Amino acid sequence: MTSETTYHRPDSLDQACNLLLENPEAILLSGCQSLGLLSKEGIVSLDTIIDLNRISELREISYNEGSLHIGALTTHRDIETSQTIQTNLPILSTAAKQIADVQIRNAGTIGGACAYADPTADYPPVLMATNATVHSVSATDSFEYTTRDGFFVDYYQSAIGPEEIITSLNIPISKNAGYGFEKLAYRKNDRAIVNVAAILETKNGKCTRSDICVAGVWDTPLIANEAMEFLLGTQLTDDDLSQASTIVQDEILVCDDPLISVEYRSAMVGVLSKKALIMAREDLP
Ligand SMILES: Cc1cc2nc3c(=O)[nH]c(=O)nc-3n(C[C@H](O)[C@H](O)[C@H](O)COP(=O)(O)OP(=O)(O)OC[C@H]3O[C@@H](n4cnc5c(N)ncnc54)[C@H](O)[C@@H]3O)c2cc1C
Repeated sequence: MTSETTYHRPDSLDQACNLLLENPEAILLSGCQSLGLLSKEGIVSLDTIIDLNRISELREISYNEGSLHIGALTTHRDIETSQTIQTNLPILSTAAKQIADVQIRNAGTIGGACAYADPTADYPPVLMATNATVHSVSATDSFEYTTRDGFFVDYYQSAIGPEEIITSLNIPISKNAGYGFEKLAYRKNDRAIVNVAAILETKNGKCTRSDICVAGVWDTPLIANEAMEFLLGTQLTDDDLSQASTIVQDEILVCDDPLISVEYRSAMVGVLSKKALIMAREDLP
């Protein structure tokens, strides 16, 4: 912020939406963990800020009839420690716990993380594997996005329009499913080189549901469709999970970067997929 910054701190969502309508150049501020960096690097200018932190309705966490509701302002620390989330979707708490350090987790929010769409972030693979929906509003309309269906549009780009404010996420929870999440980072709690979320369900000893999402490797998180298809109908033996993780490794595109070769990252996609699938199988009720 500079002495020239115009700073708004609305008490309600309606006020925030109207402020955004009147000030289309304004930047929404939640935890300021990513904005702080962007501003320091000169990538965004914080001339007009709409700080969402006083809007208490954006902080709710609840579970109702198979759906977990998480308000956009819920911090990573709240997600890590919430009894409701630990009970209904423990891999989301596991993912939150692996975000940076406790200072960042105390401030950073799930809504900010979704809007920011960092391809190495920890929530997106869990949200896409579970097929969560993201909800937003503008001054005139409300919107619902399916994470599996194009919410994470591109490198650091979500589907949220400039006039929209993310309000919440809804995550469908199946009590019959087992859930797994694995992350590999440069250092503990650093951004992911690879992270994988896996969900499995069985009936009469055979796999009836498999969802696998890999992130950290491409511009957006990627769904491993071929491996998911392969697992259906199998008994989820060690051999089935090994074969599935080889298929994930073969089908998932990985980027090259100066620190991590394509070969290493791709091999880690296979290793982490297998670990996430084993975790999901062990988590089956
Ligand atoms: C050192 C460091 C390490 C990190 N490590 C990790 C990590 O290991 N894993 C990980 O997943 N993340 C990591 N992060 C990112 C962290 O999770 C951020 O908190 C998160 O990406 C952004 O959330 P925020 O609430 O701070 O958003 P802000 O910084 O406030 O905003 C980010 C962007 O989202 C927009 N925005 C914010 N809220 C909304 C809303 N409700 N509706 C619409 N747009 C909105 C803002 O205008 C801005 O463009 C790290 C960040 C830092 C600084």
